Amino acid sequence: MQSKKSQKLFERALGLMPGGVSSPVRAWASVGGSPNFAASASGASITDADGRSYIDYVGSWGPMILGHAEPDVLAALIEAARAGTSFGASTELEVELVAALCERFASIERLRLVNSGTEATMSALRLARAATGRDAIVKFAGCYHGHSDGLLVRAGSGATTFGVPDSPGVPAAVGALTRVAEFNDLDSVGAVCDDAVAAVIVEPVAGNMGVVAPEPGFLEGLREITGQADALLIFDEVMTGLRLGPAGYQSVTQVRPDLTCLGKVIGGGLPVGAYGGGAALMDQISPGGPVYQAGTLSGNPLAAAAGLATVEKLDAAAYGALEEKAAGLAAGLREALGERPGCVQRVGSMLTLFFGPGQVRNYDDALTTDTVRFGRFFQALIDEGVWIPPSQFEAWFVSLAHTDEQLAETVAAVGRALAASD
Ligand SMILES: *Cc1c(COP(=O)(O)O)cnc(C)c1O
Repeated sequence: MQSKKSQKLFERALGLMPGGVSSPVRAWASVGGSPNFAASASGASITDADGRSYIDYVGSWGPMILGHAEPDVLAALIEAARAGTSFGASTELEVELVAALCERFASIERLRLVNSGTEATMSALRLARAATGRDAIVKFAGCYHGHSDGLLVRAGSGATTFGVPDSPGVPAAVGALTRVAEFNDLDSVGAVCDDAVAAVIVEPVAGNMGVVAPEPGFLEGLREITGQADALLIFDEVMTGLRLGPAGYQSVTQVRPDLTCLGKVIGGGLPVGAYGGGAALMDQISPGGPVYQAGTLSGNPLAAAAGLATVEKLDAAAYGALEEKAAGLAAGLREALGERPGCVQRVGSMLTLFFGPGQVRNYDDALTTDTVRFGRFFQALIDEGVWIPPSQFEAWFVSLAHTDEQLAETVAAVGRALAASD
């Protein structure tokens, strides 16, 4: 069922905005059809421009871990807004947010707030290059770190190891500084991590090729390889930070990165990013040090207020509840999938239902999935009133607001949508 007002809005937007959207995946290009426009959301429920409600697993692509319009986050936001929305001067709120994060992350002594995950990874790489005096970096195929030039290199197949830009406009010379390794394959890292490499950047749990867990020893191996090469290890926890544990996935694995990038959850649904690490490294950032990085709206009081109100609620009990909800959902999805080719991969409150021949342990595996089948499934699921990310290569996000009833309803709807799209 295509909603009419959404369709009209999209047609209008197409004449005004590239592809009709402010960020590409919102256009539903890979699943077909005209995208739903959002009008409002509350808890785990989102309402489109035509007034139709859905159970939401997009969660604004991760930030809404407490659910939408959480009352305490709203109250904090309103109070902050009344006091003024931006000053261009430091505020108590941002110090409180940074203090809360530094307290949680053993690897972070100093943290710089920025406005997006893209800025966080871009700035962390600049710092890594400055600190090591080296230019090359290593990333993994299928890992997304925002859209800065040097990170828009994915090098689809294993044959292409040295950076080929994924987008026109990325200078070949910049792309050439990016070396690509395979997730869960330490040999592929060893092969490209030499004394020209400033840093290896990784999503400790990959979420941007669909959810792919690190195999035992993978992150430990990265720590060892980077140590031997005197390169830095950067965990991009923009998605996983405070989603998979009180101090991100690094509190689950105990592997300590040199630098950590954060975003999404730490802004409670407002634009935010952050990067941090040990004092000796971070003190090289301007104005204490020579590595320049700045932002007119960085540390914005609204983002700091929403972030702080969100972070304060994420205690051990919250992660226990998220684990229980997501584990139950994943089990239900596996049962609904039955004998069909595919699998459900989950880490904490992130999961992906892959329509593929087997387990997905890297980007090449992810590319073997049936995206046409996914498109049919997505449309059938939307008709059932369940809104998941409109791409096979994304994570579904479970929030604390998803009720047992909504989770059970989702499993039933997925069963029907699978049958309808067979
Ligand atoms: C979302 C994401 C980013 C980019 O964050 P933006 O705020 O969209 O710029 C970077 N890294 C990872 C792992 C992400 O999931």
